[in-house]
Amino acid sequence: MNKLKLCAIGLVLAGGLSAQSVQCHGYTKDTNECQNRTLDSTKLCYLHNPFYVKKVETESVICDGITKKGKSCKNKTKNDNGFCHLHQSQQYFYKIQ
Ligand SMILES: [Zn+2]
Ligand SMILES: [Zn+2]
Repeated sequence: MNKLKLCAIGLVLAGGLSAQSVQCHGYTKDTNECQNRTLDSTKLCYLHNPFYVKKVETESVICDGITKKGKSCKNKTKNDNGFCHLHQSQQYFYKIQ
């Protein structure tokens, strides 16, 4: 539950508050309309967007988070936002400032 909520907040932050997802204009292999939703300006989901670049495996980095003791976290993470699983909530804290 919580994870889903965080994910939704992340999407809103990433896409801007006014962005609304639209149904993909692509067609599935059975020539049915694709039911995926997308925020992309091409109106195609990642499955149908020829410009979609699959993310390459990222190197792990040291977490940008701050521990309860006020020290920088030493955990390594592969998360895009640079925060380990313990400090996921801190990414929003920094963005708001
Ligand atoms: Zn699609
Ligand atoms: Zn951390």
